[in-house]
Amino acid sequence: MLGRTHDLAAFTALSVVVVTQPLPEMTMGTAIVALGANMLGGIAPDIDQSTAPFWRNVPIGPMFGRFFGRLLGGHRFLSHSILGIFLFGILFQLFLNFLQPSIPNIDLDVVWWAFMIGFVSHLIMDTFTKEGVAWLLPIPWSFGFPPIRAFRVTTGEFFEKYIIFPGLLVLTGYIYYTYYDKILELLREYLK
Ligand SMILES: [Zn+2]
Repeated sequence: MLGRTHDLAAFTALSVVVVTQPLPEMTMGTAIVALGANMLGGIAPDIDQSTAPFWRNVPIGPMFGRFFGRLLGGHRFLSHSILGIFLFGILFQLFLNFLQPSIPNIDLDVVWWAFMIGFVSHLIMDTFTKEGVAWLLPIPWSFGFPPIRAFRVTTGEFFEKYIIFPGLLVLTGYIYYTYYDKILELLREYLK
């Protein structure tokens, strides 16, 4: 799917968790960094694709993309699996540990969870595409939903652009509408 669909889906997934789970206390700074990490997690699995939005905006990005693609076994391989979830979870944790001394006031547990929620939402969304996702790698079976390939989404085409993307927007709007009071309460707490 397209980068923007993935980012929106990551945000939708994060929103569901925010309104349904008890949240730890956090500062506004943590909430903002977590939001960024969530967007990053939403597109991170496509680090294995040289044409990914991830790489397109960097001058020699496509080169890195090809490098990571090869490292991760090609597009929709290792980074698109349960093994990949663990791998990226560990790597992102190491990255956060490295950053910790320079951002002591940010709750990095919250940031890590936000990233992972985005990451997993990416794999779920890709499961709806024609290619499917080989969740169980190294077992190379691709899983897709619906099981009949013809009914699945082609990346960047009509169904994604005009049904899935707007559908996610409506769903996110609905979540905020339904949990309006809780969201207000959360914001009031953070903006103190
Ligand atoms: Zn993907």
